[in-house]
Amino acid sequence: MNVYDSERMGEALNAAGYQSVNVPDEADMVILNTCHIREKAAEKVYSELGRLKKLKDTNEDMIIGVAGCVAQAEGEEMLARAPTVDLVFGPQTFQALPDMLDELADNRADALAENGHIKKAKGVVRTSFPAEEKFATLFETPRQPLVRSPAAFVTVQEGCDKFCTFCVVPYTRGAEVSRAAVEIEAEIISLAQKGVSEITLLGQNVNAWHDEAGGDIGLGQLLRRLAEVAGIERLRYTTSHPRDMDEALIEAHADLPELMPYLHLPVQAGSDKILKAMNRKHTAADYIKLVERIREARPDIALSSDFIVGFPGETEEDFTATLDLVKQVTYAQAYSFKYSPRPGTPASEDPQIEEDVKSERLARLQELLNAQQVHFNKAQTDETLDVLFEKQGKKPGQMVGRSPYLQTVHVDADETVIGKILPVKITKAHANSLSGEILGS
Ligand code: SAH
Ligand code: SF4
Repeated sequence: MNVYDSERMGEALNAAGYQSVNVPDEADMVILNTCHIREKAAEKVYSELGRLKKLKDTNEDMIIGVAGCVAQAEGEEMLARAPTVDLVFGPQTFQALPDMLDELADNRADALAENGHIKKAKGVVRTSFPAEEKFATLFETPRQPLVRSPAAFVTVQEGCDKFCTFCVVPYTRGAEVSRAAVEIEAEIISLAQKGVSEITLLGQNVNAWHDEAGGDIGLGQLLRRLAEVAGIERLRYTTSHPRDMDEALIEAHADLPELMPYLHLPVQAGSDKILKAMNRKHTAADYIKLVERIREARPDIALSSDFIVGFPGETEEDFTATLDLVKQVTYAQAYSFKYSPRPGTPASEDPQIEEDVKSERLARLQELLNAQQVHFNKAQTDETLDVLFEKQGKKPGQMVGRSPYLQTVHVDADETVIGKILPVKITKAHANSLSGEILGS
């Protein structure tokens, strides 16, 4: 979602006369788009700001902005803690960037008049809520997408009302808001006209998406509509919550060849006691039953998930229940994290599990998940997969694309394959990617 938001900021700034450059040294303005989900991500912002301060010391006019959820959470405090920062704005206000820049220019002019230099100019902070206003503004200003890849993200839903006890999202991104189906369709048509053939619909709870105006349709129906858009050959969506996986969405997996057989369905933990303490509102058995139903609809679907280890109160037995769930479900891919206490969330106030216990559990879980991923990748050897080629690889003469199961696939080919979906015979499986040969070449 931050990638998508950054692209839209780039578009807003392009319209205001800015151009993007590849390295901060060449920039008049640098914006960090930040993540608050775990402490590690939030900490990175300040070390990065330390590096940028050195650049600003050599170029006083340089503008430094902090966007995203760390900015949302810290607001004014950020200006006090990092005086080098000029703009602080949350994920629901970035459409106002040109406006904020005007305000900053005024503040700098005032400071220059008062003090003879711009150093003490007042910074600009925008952290209002919720997302409706942003969506309305973004829709009114037709998108001029700077398309770089045949695979694009489109945000359809933002925010979260679920309040899992470990999570900051409901506080930083705000309440659940869905974009209207007509807006989404229009954006995807404009992307398709620029050569995009794969769309990933984004939302914190993407499967909670619904459009009341259009007869209360859900994500399953939306996907059916989008599959009709000329040029769109592949559809994906992320991140879904197990509780919002309704029958219409599962049926879309059975019926739509455009809907790729890959589903990220976070479960977080396998112990019912921990799931309850996390406020996930489903049991391990509910999740397993759901997976069975989804696999009935689309037998080859590849599953991925998120896991948290070391949540407050997690015993060895609870952790073993997570391992058992992983063994039962079997995943093609997964993300796993040590629990990170986040300010303002209920679980952060509970007695915490020791760091070394968390580390040891994470290592055991990752060993199992990695083995499943390698097994899944190895099973594709000698198979033929349709690959959408997205870009050049790191090695000369190498092109990179994605399989229907979201695996990265490398082949030797020239740039003419970019944007095409071609059959590839898989010759070798690695831990994180596949290699193959384009059939008929
Ligand atoms: N809406 C999605 C997840 C969004 S956050 C869902 O409900 O599944 C992405 C992932 O970050 C979560 O799935 C969770 O595994 C992880 N995460 C969120 N808060 C965390 C925390 N405090 N500590 C560790 N991991 C966390
Ligand atoms: Fe966070 Fe997802 Fe839970 Fe919402 S449903 S609170 S985004 S983990």
